[in-house]
Amino acid sequence: MHTIPDPDSPQTTIERITLLYAMEAEGMPLVERLKLTEQPAVDPNLTQRHFAGTVGTVSIDLLMNGVDPRCGTDRIGTDAATLAGFIAIRKFAPDLVINAGTCGGFQARGGCVGDIYVSEGDCLFHDRHIALPGFALQARGQWPVTPAKHLAAAMGAKSGIVSTGNSLDTTPEELAFFAQYRVAAKDMEACAIAQVCGQCGVPFVAVKAVTDLVDHPEPASEAFLRNLRTASALLSESMERGIRWLGAHPRRVGDL
Ligand code: SAH
Repeated sequence: MHTIPDPDSPQTTIERITLLYAMEAEGMPLVERLKLTEQPAVDPNLTQRHFAGTVGTVSIDLLMNGVDPRCGTDRIGTDAATLAGFIAIRKFAPDLVINAGTCGGFQARGGCVGDIYVSEGDCLFHDRHIALPGFALQARGQWPVTPAKHLAAAMGAKSGIVSTGNSLDTTPEELAFFAQYRVAAKDMEACAIAQVCGQCGVPFVAVKAVTDLVDHPEPASEAFLRNLRTASALLSESMERGIRWLGAHPRRVGDL
């Protein structure tokens, strides 16, 4: 049986940080703020775009999933996220992985469009229904994130539970799941990356900006398209504050 490695020691100093974004609209504002420069492709068969730079004491590698050449849209969802997470860990050997992006929020948990959430507790999968004995935990994910209250404070962000699935819209069963687990942010990538980081023993945090409200009658797709640029701009402000805090002087995983 394979054992899952322990997450990095809380004493590990954070020197190399990998930032994973699904969509260019989400990631480019931070590339510009931090003046990261584009690097050669990480792999000839992958569409991921790689940007890198240094902020104070930390080096940054930022991957965006890139575009599916068949349809010209960004590669979103858990398969692209898993691939990006694994190749990033192998290529960059990060001390910390941050998955940044947008999410659906919840009025029931006090969420508003433009809010920024830093992950807490476990990341979940909400759309995996496998009624077979023994598979419930694998289906639900429950991959722990690294506690990051101080990082959240530095970013001016809230803390909340992030749940991941491969659809933008929401079923009534999923709404019940979100209430049961007090989910604050619904996305399409975080838990997939939490799983890779958990398997590889790399500390992981998700940072998500609310573009739409899941428990609101307006379809998520309409609110998402209307709010994507504004929410991504707010996300990049918070991310810049967080990265500058991380690079201000050497910080350990336990300081997050
Ligand atoms: N039609 C859009 C599709 C974006 S899908 C387009 O291509 O322009 C939504 C992306 O934003 C995903 O990467 C996901 O992580 C995040 N997201 C934002 N709101 C979401 C929601 N309500 N549910 C799930 N993911 C959401």
